[in-house]
Amino acid sequence: MAFAEYPVQSLMYITNRPELVFTEGKGSWLTDHNGKRYLDFVQGWAVNSLGHSDDVMIAALEKQARKLLNPSPAFYNEPMLKLAGLLTDHSCFDKVFFANSGAEANEGAIKLARKWGRKHKNGAYEIITMNHSFHGRTLATMSASGKAGWDTIFAPQVPGFPKAELNDLASVEALINDKTVGIMLEPVQGEGGVIPATREFMKGLRALADKHNLLFIVDEVQTGCGRCGTLFAYELSGVEPDIMTLGKGIGGGVPLAALLCKADVASFEAGDQGGTYNGNPLMTAVGAAVIEQLVAPGFLEDVRAKADYLREQLLALTAEFGLEGERGDGLLRALKLGKDIGPQLVEEARDMGPEGLLLNSPRPNLLRFMPALNVTRAEIDQMIGMLRTLLKKLA
Ligand SMILES: *Cc1c(COP(=O)(O)O)cnc(C)c1O
Repeated sequence: MAFAEYPVQSLMYITNRPELVFTEGKGSWLTDHNGKRYLDFVQGWAVNSLGHSDDVMIAALEKQARKLLNPSPAFYNEPMLKLAGLLTDHSCFDKVFFANSGAEANEGAIKLARKWGRKHKNGAYEIITMNHSFHGRTLATMSASGKAGWDTIFAPQVPGFPKAELNDLASVEALINDKTVGIMLEPVQGEGGVIPATREFMKGLRALADKHNLLFIVDEVQTGCGRCGTLFAYELSGVEPDIMTLGKGIGGGVPLAALLCKADVASFEAGDQGGTYNGNPLMTAVGAAVIEQLVAPGFLEDVRAKADYLREQLLALTAEFGLEGERGDGLLRALKLGKDIGPQLVEEARDMGPEGLLLNSPRPNLLRFMPALNVTRAEIDQMIGMLRTLLKKLA
């Protein structure tokens, strides 16, 4: 079908999209309406942890679709229980609440912290968050986010989210008062430009939280589920948070998210939290199929080995073209270009022939890489080769 024949005008405008309609995906490859193939290093924004249309996920989805779609969130179902057990077995947390998006999981984390504050901390409700952070697009999660301009677009904001600087412990400590109930951050700021919180900062936040009786909340919507080379990114700094949110990779491409906490933090009472689709068996069956693959022997070692390989290749490009280096954890990495050529590279990579390359530029001087966790070395080589061609052209 020609692009002009699609009823594109029927979609509400929210962003500029290229004139491409994606029709199929498998592994690291996407195909558009013209039959052109693209090597995908965006993967639905770090969502497709096992690449496009993973066979094990498809089998779980088909099997569950024939069995039970949704008995109601007011009843238990088997996939919901299986996935909750997998998550508590493989993390430091004891309790799980399922949601449908990262923003909804973060809303849940904010509500849980405020509820805990009401019960145990004299009504304290402020959550210290970081400048340049991203926590979602609901009103509360936009207010928690530290994105420039987001304080005014849909004003008034939800109050109670003072902002500190990432990796500056004193800036956090300066904001603590009687009303403070928690500290919330991404272990690696994803949308902010792949900026890792240092191990010392994470340890310092844990100590501050202990000292002032605050909840330490990690938003692992982007960093969790193997993305950073460990099942969860908090493991990298050897601290145990009190609350964690998951999204993106946990569903491997389907809408699924989760809010986890330690037993003593779980303070919701009947009716405080819920949602029509929360914990539905169709999505949680897929989530269980994803997590089982991530925790299989050797899987995360392989992610770490390929992350090292990608890092070496990005450093080689850095040397070759005089770029400014790279950063990140696991398979969430960024190449520092030193010039504002990111958006141009993204466009030219996509439009390359005969095969295109999908990349992302969260800041004009950066490229972000978030391939499938089962990406092959050959696919990394091919991506680097295509990027080299583009960088040569621009040089
Ligand atoms: C993507 C993202 C979110 C929002 O998730 P949605 O599923 O888009 O609502 C929240 N936090 C972080 C760190 C994210 O990367």
